Order: sequence, then C-alpha cells, then structure tokens
Amino acid sequence: MSDPNELTVLNPATEEIVATVPAASEEDVAAAVVRAVRAQRTWAAVAPADRARLLRRFADVVDAHAEELARLEVREAGHTLGNARWEAGNARDLLLYAAGGAERLLGRQIPAPGGWDVTFHEPLGVVGVIAPWNFPMPIAAWGSFPALAAGNAVVLKPAEATPLTALRLAALALEAGLPEHLFQVLPGYGTTAGRALVDHPDVAKIVFTGSTRTGREVMERCARLVKPVTLELGGKSPNVVFADADLTAALDPFSFLDNCGQDCCARTRVLVQESVLDEARDVLADALAAVVVGDPADEKTRVGPLISARQRERVRSYVPDDAPALRGSAPDGPGFWFPPTVLTAERPDSRAAREEIFGPVAVLLPFTDEQDAVRLANDTPYGLSGSVWTKDLGRALRVSQAVRAGNLSVNSHSSVRYWTPFGGFKQSGLGRELGPDALTAFTETKNVFISTEGPAQ
Ligand code: NAD
Repeated sequence: MSDPNELTVLNPATEEIVATVPAASEEDVAAAVVRAVRAQRTWAAVAPADRARLLRRFADVVDAHAEELARLEVREAGHTLGNARWEAGNARDLLLYAAGGAERLLGRQIPAPGGWDVTFHEPLGVVGVIAPWNFPMPIAAWGSFPALAAGNAVVLKPAEATPLTALRLAALALEAGLPEHLFQVLPGYGTTAGRALVDHPDVAKIVFTGSTRTGREVMERCARLVKPVTLELGGKSPNVVFADADLTAALDPFSFLDNCGQDCCARTRVLVQESVLDEARDVLADALAAVVVGDPADEKTRVGPLISARQRERVRSYVPDDAPALRGSAPDGPGFWFPPTVLTAERPDSRAAREEIFGPVAVLLPFTDEQDAVRLANDTPYGLSGSVWTKDLGRALRVSQAVRAGNLSVNSHSSVRYWTPFGGFKQSGLGRELGPDALTAFTETKNVFISTEGPAQ
C-alpha cells in the first residue's frame, strides 16, 4: 500500500530507495494556486525584455547544474547517462528559445474602417502542468517554460515515481532570481493533487502529458469549467520501410528502444515491404543481439531498465514465453530489466500490435505496396509519430501526407526539436507544444478597436 502522504522514489536499476518526498494534498494545491495567482500578477507586469533576461539567467543556472540534473534523472528514472545529459540540455535550450519568444509575442494590426484594430496576446494566468514519469525533465520543461515566458505562473505536478528533477528545476529557478511562487512544483498523486489542479477554478489551463485514459478524464473535468487543455497522450507509431530503403538505417532498433521503449514516439509497429521481410528479420536479429542493456549510469550503456516492477509486468503480459520473436538479452538480479524484443508473428489486430506497450517491444508486420502501407500505418487510434524509409522522393512525400500523425520523419527516426511543433493527431492528443507558436498556446488573444473618428463637426 502506498502512503497517501508520501512518495517513495526508487532507483529502477537497483530497486533501492533514492528519496521520499511529501505528497501534496488538495489543500496544498489550493494554497499553491493562491500564491501563484499573486506571483503571476507581478510577473505579467515585468517588461518582456526583463522577463527574457531572467529566463536566460535561469538557463545559465540549469547549464551550470546540467551534470547534476542528468545524474539525478539516471537515479530516479533509470535513464542512460547519455540520454539524461541530452534532457538537461534540452531544458536549458528550451529556456533560451522561450526567452526570445517573450520579446516577440507580437499582435497584429488589422485594417478596419473608422479606426485602428490591434490584437494582443495576454497571459492566461496560472497554468497547471501534469507530467508523466517517462521523460520527467523535458516534459516538465515543455509545458512550463513557454508558459512562464508568455507571462504566466506555473504549478507543476510531476509523476509519483519521478518528482526529483522537477523539484530541482524549481529550486534552480529561484536561484536564478525568478520571483518566488512563480514556478512551483508539487509532487503528489494523480487522483488527489492532479485532480485538484485540474478542478481548481483559478487554474486557467491544463497541460497534461500521460496516458490516453487519464487524458480523457482530464479533458472531461476541464470541460466542466470550459478550461483549455493541451493533451500529449499515447502512441503506437509506425516505421514504414519500403524495399528500396537502407535497411540497416531504417531498422535501427533505437527507433523503439530509446528510453527502454518508454517513449510516446517509439516506432513500435515495424511495417516492412514483404519482398524484403526475410532480410529485414536478419538485420533486426543482428541489431538486437548487439544491444547492451545494463547499468544506466555507465557511459557506454544505451538501454537501461523499465521504470517499475508494475511496468515490467505490464510489458511481460504482451510477450508470452512461446511467442515467435527476436530477442536480445537483459541483466538478471535487482532492477526492472526486460530484453529488447521484436514479435514476428502478430496479426495487425492483436493486442500487442494495437496497444501501447511502453517497453522495449515492437511488432514486425509485412505490407504489400504503398496503399497497403498507408492503410496499415493509419490502422490505429493513435497518431503521434512515425518514420517513412524510401529512396523514392515522390513516394516519401505522398506517404508523409497520407499518414495521420503529428510528427513524421523521412529517412530518419528523429521526432523532437524544441524549435519545431510537437503533438498528436487522433487519440494521441490535442494541441501542440514547442516550436515557434509555443508561447501563443499560453495566451488569450484580445482584439481592441480604437476609433479615429474626430468629434462631430
Ligand atoms: P498517467 O496518465 O498514468 O499519468 C500521467 C500523470 O497524470 C502523472 O503525473 C499522474 O500522477 C497524473 N494523473 C493520474 N491520474 C490523474 C487524474 N485522475 N487527474 C489528474 N492527473 C492524474 O501516465 P504515465 O503512465 O505516467 O505516462 C505514460 C504515458 O504518457 C504513456 O501513455 C505515454 O505515451 C504518454 N506520454 C505522451 C507523451 C506525448 O508527448 N504525447 C510524452 C510522454 C508520455
């Protein structure tokens, strides 16, 4: 039984307790929102260039503590050191990018007879950010930093398993000179602190990243207050590999193994043109055999453990011992390990081929031609990400247009850049984060008409 007043953070690679942290109650959330409302009024009155200067200073402080933040992420989330360093750098870079946005939050001047018509982007007020455990630091940053740059206060609730880097970021914000209570982090349970944040009438918007099931509930609760919501939810992304592709690059197993597969953008449906299916199987088998799963704090490790025993049970439920599969290896002993796996005989309508597994497991599915590839790629309630591999430029463009997903890459497996928009189609979400419009998602547009009519002659 978990203690309702406390969160226990475990190191997923050793199962040792890293820290215990008080869990916020509904009353704690309400008090934090009162403080945030006050802090936001002062912050919105700070000149944009000064807000930008403070956020750049915050970026400098994050940079100075990047290694410490990375090592904390290794311990609380089992991320490999290489990934965790990238994540700390991503938080810093997003701060710098969002800081520039504060100075460029431009309205428009619209022709109107009898006067001038101008628009303003005004901050919403207090923004509630609810983050998952799979990328605790970047996702906390994506929801919070553009909101701060646009003149809002933020109350962030990290996931139960991973509150530590978020708490550290909030402390670094104070060290950098951001006003007190402007960026508050409240670790707590989803069904108490999370719900309290969603239901609070003075929280003007919710940014939720997590499962589609919880996202649906968050949206329903927001609807009662007509509260805007950004949802970043699950995925079951396709990797569409045509026969003319560079198979070694296209079948890079890190397209689904990064972060031990606990990645909403993981390309877990490997769709391969049937004429090269046998070759693809060989390439994947060799690649999986070469993957070393192990201690995430070791610089050379590229795949660490799953987040928890519960997550490992869930992943295991999709991979019966006798399932036809290509299998890599994983350590024994303490830690939530699972071997990289590609299921090779699933039907497109099987549970493993349709549901988000959120572990190092992909399914290999053949397709006949371009039309069949697009049909299979779109045969999912999700639409977050995906890759298309072919040397035929026309086909790459046609398939990119036809696949209904928010973040596609052609002859690449990349998904996330802080300067390009990120978000899902269908049940993968609502709204976009990052990119050039990140700040406007945290503003209301106000239109003001100013009459130029003089006094009646
Ligand atoms: P989750 O939905 O269980 O929890 C996410 C967060 O919501 C946690 O902070 C949790 O405490 C909180 N929460 C739980 N119940 C709540 C409620 N009733 N009201 C308010 N808050 C509540 O998800 P998870 O298991 O932590 O994360 C994994 C999921 O996140 C996967 O489905 C993954 O695809 C998704 N994800 C999506 C993106 C994206 O950008 N689209 C990115 C990362 C992860």
